[in-house]
Amino acid sequence: MDEFFDKVSDTVMTAGKVVSDKAKNVTDITKTKYEITTKQNELKAKYALIGERFFEENKDNHDESYDEIFADIEQLKDDIEDLNDRIVNLKGAKLCPSCGAEVSEKANFCNKCGASLN
Ligand SMILES: [Zn+2]
Repeated sequence: MDEFFDKVSDTVMTAGKVVSDKAKNVTDITKTKYEITTKQNELKAKYALIGERFFEENKDNHDESYDEIFADIEQLKDDIEDLNDRIVNLKGAKLCPSCGAEVSEKANFCNKCGASLN
């Protein structure tokens, strides 16, 4: 009888260990996926740095095969500038022509650089 209970006990303990190993593996998989995502995001950021540098170094002189993407980038930069201007307008503000600081629409002088705004 003791042998029977020992066997049952062993089986239960083994099953418990399998369950806890599986749970640990699930946790490790989640952690590892998070690490992969983090590394992929770092990789994307590095590629973006190279892309930005390539753009700045070649925007005035590049192979015509890049014409479309360079034009797209210029358009996107213009669009972002326009959208930022829209926000400044919606806030009832304007940008200092001298330093670019956001100042009240009614201000006569820039409160950052002191430039005259009239
Ligand atoms: Zn200013």
